[in-house]
Amino acid sequence: MATGSDAHRQEDPANTTSVSNLQTEIKGLTETAQQLLTDKLLLESEISQVKKRASRLEEEIRNLRTPPMVIGHIQDLVDEGAIVRSSNGTVFLVSINPRIDESLLIPGARVALNQDNLSVIEVLSDSWDPLVVTSEIIEKPSVTFDDVGGLEEQIVQIREAVELSFTNREDFKRLAIDPPKGVLLTGPPGTGKTMLAKAVANSTNAVFLGLVASELAQKYIGEGGRLVREIFDLARKRAPAIVFIDELDAIGSKRLDSATSGDREVQRTLMQLLSELDGFTPLEDVKIIAATNRPELLDNALLRPGRFDRIVEIPLPDEDSRLSILKVHTKKTPISGRIKLEEIASRTDGFSGAELKSLVVEAGVSAISKGNKKITKSDFLGSLEKLTTNRMKDKNDNSSGLYD
Ligand code: ATP
Repeated sequence: MATGSDAHRQEDPANTTSVSNLQTEIKGLTETAQQLLTDKLLLESEISQVKKRASRLEEEIRNLRTPPMVIGHIQDLVDEGAIVRSSNGTVFLVSINPRIDESLLIPGARVALNQDNLSVIEVLSDSWDPLVVTSEIIEKPSVTFDDVGGLEEQIVQIREAVELSFTNREDFKRLAIDPPKGVLLTGPPGTGKTMLAKAVANSTNAVFLGLVASELAQKYIGEGGRLVREIFDLARKRAPAIVFIDELDAIGSKRLDSATSGDREVQRTLMQLLSELDGFTPLEDVKIIAATNRPELLDNALLRPGRFDRIVEIPLPDEDSRLSILKVHTKKTPISGRIKLEEIASRTDGFSGAELKSLVVEAGVSAISKGNKKITKSDFLGSLEKLTTNRMKDKNDNSSGLYD
């Protein structure tokens, strides 16, 4: 007789199958549930990423919708707020964002202004300050006319134009003559144009404010004109001053009709320069010396009388001038008695003053590398050969310049 446990042992095969089916089904469903859970987690994290991205894009849209701020400079601080000058030159009394650190609010600081009410929103860093970046300011240059070799006639012309109007102002008044405002120096590179401007600043105890015109050709509308205005404002404040503009052709080229917006900005810079030259404010103690290697490119407006009153040509030095320049640059240099500077001068036809200086420097380097105390003839001849080869190479590479 079968016991109960026996009966239990002899399970119905149909039941066994359905149990195992159920188990498989449970396993399948558990796996699906797991999978769905994983999917859910993935989707949740995707949703949170999309939400973040959406909020970033919304922020960007908000930024794009905010009106631009106007850039200006603080001129003065008063109880009511700040006196600022916007980039177009207009001066306003405006309020200041109370959260700005007061120590940053100083006259001259560059600030961002709200477009509607021009209140000061933030103080911008000054590292970009154009005056610092673009100009070389020397209280009194150390270069004197004695350092200039040759160019005797040109020195007289520059001294007459600049020194006389500083020193004999009363005489000009008595004769009812306007003193010359500026001198334009034309000539090949390295012939001493910058030197002459510095030497005349030295002889008149004037501040030398040197800038390169290509630096004035700015990318942003109105910036070039503003720079010119600021440089002349500074020159008037520091008068007597010599403003030296090198590479004048970069902003003073002939105006073309088919101008791009970049050309127009360069022209605006030129217009500002012309208006400074015309002198809304008297320029008595500020003289302008400009230099160019390409005078034929200059706009006629610059060459009209009353602007650059004197045009002084600085040619490549002739043999006598080359000898004077060599003497200037070897004044303090021990050289062997066998060197005849006259011979070097006669063998350097076409060399500029800057090249003659390099010749002496090269010869000096050669002497030092050989451990010699004096520059010998072979040092000079070696460096002459080296420079002549370099000049030939440069000439072949660049044969389009006017003064080549
Ligand atoms: P650029 O057109 O390239 O600006 P530049 O005519 O202004 O040139 P300078 O910068 O005055 O030339 O000259 C460069 C260097 O050449 C000077 O520092 C000086 O050492 C030397 N030099 C040029 N001309 C003379 C000169 N006549 N007498 C003495 N040194 C000179």
